[in-house]
Order: sequence, then structure tokens, then C-alpha cells
Amino acid sequence: MKILVINAGSSSLKYQLIDMTTENVIAKGAVERIGIVGSFLKQKVGDKEKVINKDLANHKEAITLVFCALVDKEFGAIQDMKEVDAVGHRVVHSGEDFNKTVLLNAEVMKICKKNIELAPLHMPANIAGIEACLEVMPNTPMGLVFDTAFHASLPKHAYMYGIKYEDYENYKIRKYGFHGTSHKYVSQNAIAYLKLEGKNSKIITCHLGNGSSISAVKNGVCMDTSMGFTPLAGVLMGTRSGDIDPAIIEFLTIKKNFTMQQAINYLNKECGVYGISGVSSDFRDLFTAMKEGNKRAKLALEMFAYQIKKYIGAYVAAMNGIDCLVFTAGIGENDDYIRSLVCKDMECFGIDIDLEENKMRKNSIRELNKPNSKTKVLIVPTNEELAIARETKALLQ
Ligand code: ADP
Repeated sequence: MKILVINAGSSSLKYQLIDMTTENVIAKGAVERIGIVGSFLKQKVGDKEKVINKDLANHKEAITLVFCALVDKEFGAIQDMKEVDAVGHRVVHSGEDFNKTVLLNAEVMKICKKNIELAPLHMPANIAGIEACLEVMPNTPMGLVFDTAFHASLPKHAYMYGIKYEDYENYKIRKYGFHGTSHKYVSQNAIAYLKLEGKNSKIITCHLGNGSSISAVKNGVCMDTSMGFTPLAGVLMGTRSGDIDPAIIEFLTIKKNFTMQQAINYLNKECGVYGISGVSSDFRDLFTAMKEGNKRAKLALEMFAYQIKKYIGAYVAAMNGIDCLVFTAGIGENDDYIRSLVCKDMECFGIDIDLEENKMRKNSIRELNKPNSKTKVLIVPTNEELAIARETKALLQ
């Protein structure tokens, strides 16, 4: 069985074709600058890499180019798109309508369109990707895998905000959480690796990438998560502010003469570790700058680690304990400095990592904790594409 995974963003579209018998990636690629001058596709099949420069006005043209690249006689991976048994789409928001992966049909599409208002930056692109695929391969089953679905299990006292109850009822203003596919994948891998019984485990997962979120997973089920109504909430991130006092927004509109939209754009794109350091949103650049004596870069890294620590503390309290702390995604998997800051002075939670092991580079699941540390600390590489393909396969079976 071959499954094509599509992750459509506003101006980019990433894809992977996965052989589900072996779980090997047959082909992977990305189309960038869709709708902008200079669009191009980059595809990798085995060791062969191919770049196609072609102006692409929209997602349909991008998908059509992806299909051409996949079946190309010279640099493609398959002979015919009929070899693709199913497509798995990453969809950012399920609203309160879906708590798991669903098979696409007209009713599901209608609900996705209704939910555009919950994620106006992401949902239109996700839907454009789905519609483009539907036009080109109308008879191929498609699974929709939602970033929010794993968090559908949050208890009401965790997902409600302290606003008027009627505004939750009327407008569905509540915490949804994001990165759910990754939190689910790494928590399940941690449970399997540590041979913890899924039904009796307390895990905190730290997905630390350009966007970062922390989740509390008790007995295999998500109990709380740091992102909120939108992915702007939680810890500060590359360019996002994370949690702030909401009254700051009005203050910003006065002091900086911002419209509301400009204020939100500022909090999404100009803040976080980038805004604090004035250097970069990339943690490698921040570490280099700190080593060169840049105090604001050092502060940004310390703030990031401190905020993660506070979520860990909160989630230990929420679950009444912790068996395992998991680090994943670009920073979580690669940044030993951040991991060491987060785990420093956390003996009260039984967290005690081996600093030498923490510095090692390996691309597989592994333990960072000292042998007698009460709490396990793991690096679990995430693989959202494989998770989406597995969910889609399970749906078909
Ligand atoms: P996305 O949210 O876009 O999927 P990733 O999970 O790929 O992001 O994480 C990207 C971030 O990971 C980069 O911004 C960078 O800060 C960080 N990163 C990647 N490699 C390293 C590394 N070797 N050391 C420190 N940080 C890294």
C-alpha cells in the first residue's frame, strides 16, 4: 500500500509518498512560493534530487506539478498515480467537530469550510490542497488528520477560558491545542519504548520547533496542552510571543498605533526569541550569539527554557506525577543546551539527566536520564508524515 501525505501551507506544499508495507519514504518533496513569482518544486527520490522551476498560480497547479514529478520517467518514483492507494492530508483545525482522523466526503468538507474562521491563516490552504487533489484524483480515498484531534480529550476544566460561558457556547472560544499528531506519535513511542502500560502512564511531551507546545498525556490520553484557541498561546517561540497579558494588546494599539490585525501580526511574527534577542528565530544562531557575548540572545534562551519548566511543573501537578519527559522536533531533538537548561534543578520531579549523554547526537529514540533517575527523560524523533500515513492506513482498514 502506498500513501501520499500532503501538508499544504499558504504558499508551500510538502509531500511524502510512503510505502506502508515497509514504512519507507519512496519520494519526498516540497513546492514553495505558490502564487508568488519564482515558485519551484524540489523532489528527492533515493539519492536523486530534482528541482523544477515553474510559476504556479495556485495549489491546483502545485498539486498537478507534484503528480507530474512523482510519475516522471527520469526522476520520478512511480509509473502511474493509480499506484497511490490513498492520500493523507494534514489539516490544522477540527473545531469541536472531529476527535479523530476522518475519511473525506462532502459533509466533512462542508464542516472544514465552516471551521475556516477558527484558523483563517491555515485552513484555506489546507482546503485548497484537498480540493486540488480531489480534482486530479477524485476516486482515491483521502484521510484528514487534524492537528487538534489528539487534544479533543482535554477535560472541560482544562479547555475552558475564564470568559463568559455564553461566548464559549456561541463562538466556540476555548483551548483547542495544536501539534496533536506529533504529541500523539511521540507519547505512544515513549510508552512502547519504556514498556509502560499505556493505561497507567504519565508523560509530558515537549514539541519544540519553530512553533512549540507542551502536552500532558495521562494513560495515553491528552489531558492538557500549552497552545490555545490559536497556536499563538503557550511558551514563547521562534517569532510568537506565547502567553501574554491580553491587556497588552490594547496598550500596543495605542502606543504603536497598531490596528488589531497589526497587533496580532506583530505577536505572531515579530516577537518570541526573535523579538527578545533581535538576532534570529533560529536557536542555532541564538546559541552562537550568546557564546559571542550577546546578552539578549542569552536572555531569550533562558526565557524559553524557564517557560517550558513552568509548564512541566504545572502538568506534573495536573497529572499528580510524571513517569517520563519527552523532547521532540527541531529544538527538542537537537538542542542540548535548551534540554540541559530545562532539566536543570528539577530533582524535585525526579528528573536527573546525564549531561554527557545529552550532548550526543543520534537520530533515534534514546534515554538522557541517569540510571537511577526516577523520571525517564527521552528524545523521541517525531515523524508527522509517517503518523499521518499510519492514521490514513488505519482508517482504510
Ligand atoms: P517546524 O515547526 O517548522 O516543523 P522544526 O521542528 O523543524 O520546525 O524546528 C526548527 C527549529 O529547530 C529551527 O528554528 C532551529 O531553531 C531548531 N534547530 C534545528 N536544528 C538545530 C540544532 N542542531 N541545534 C539547535 N536548534 C536546532
